Amino acid sequence: RSKASGRNQFQFFTADMNAHALERLALENDLHRAIERGEFRLVFQPQFDGSGDIVGTEALLRWQHPQRGLVMPAQFIPVAEETGLIVPIGAWVLERACQQTRAWREAGLKKITVSVNISALQFSQKNLLDLIRRLLAVSHIEPGTLELELTESVLMHDHVATSGLMSELKEMGVRMSIDDFGTGYSSLSYLRSFPISKLKIDQSFVRDLGGDGDAGAITGAIIGLAKNLNMRVIAEGVETAQQASFLQGQCCDEFQGHFFSKPVSAEKLAELLRAG
Ligand code: C2E
Ligand code: MG
Ligand code: MG
Ligand code: MG
Repeated sequence: RSKASGRNQFQFFTADMNAHALERLALENDLHRAIERGEFRLVFQPQFDGSGDIVGTEALLRWQHPQRGLVMPAQFIPVAEETGLIVPIGAWVLERACQQTRAWREAGLKKITVSVNISALQFSQKNLLDLIRRLLAVSHIEPGTLELELTESVLMHDHVATSGLMSELKEMGVRMSIDDFGTGYSSLSYLRSFPISKLKIDQSFVRDLGGDGDAGAITGAIIGLAKNLNMRVIAEGVETAQQASFLQGQCCDEFQGHFFSKPVSAEKLAELLRAG
């Protein structure tokens, strides 16, 4: 009996694995065609300074799948990274973000920074610099308008290549920030040697503010570190007035999160900018 049920379990397990592998293969297939089929779009989450003005926005990718519906980044970015598809997808994101920035400027809207998430694999591509240079030239936007959000893992890669690319980007005037800061393993002395203009405090620390844990000490330490290194600092995932005022009390420069605004369409962001 135990043998039989063991075998059943095994069959169940493999059937499950096959289903998972097939589903993953299907997703990968669809992802391959998503760009040419025009299924991607960007939404924009505004970033606010301490006085409540919009000073920037983060471009976030959305996949509108004909059958699956709206697919969120957590469901497809990891697959895109594993398959290398993040390189063409990321190039599409950069191009759209630059076009949109251009459109906002042509509409006479206030200048804000536009942040784009860059995967480690994308950042290791030889032609990234040329791509960005070309996109900036074609869209006629000031390089300082574009901010690349890198993760700590990027800093851990090949130090010489990474800092070389970062120096060239800085030379062009493009800004760089570290996303999800505090969750990786970047050494603090390392941090100093890169031309980074902003730290983004990871939302996990913001979420835990007001509890009896160490979150407040950690956000305070990150804000202090940023000030000492002459960087700006933004808190991500701010969901409550309490979190916002606590961070403001710690002299955090900028804020992003549902308490202020969810990610919105480009049109809606333009409205928010017009409303002031
Ligand atoms: P991220 O770069 O850290 O982006 C912040 C994420 O937190 C976004 O999720 C945003 O919608 C969400 N968020 C903002 N405010 C709040 C809040 O108050 N509460 C909560 N619970 N969440 C909030 P989203 O859009 O689902 O993106 C998830 C991740 O996917 C991003 O994290 C980023 O790592 C990645 N991603 C998104 N777009 C791109 C892209 O174009 N390229 C690459 N390489 N990665 C991307
Ligand atoms: Mg980000
Ligand atoms: Mg983040
Ligand atoms: Mg993240």
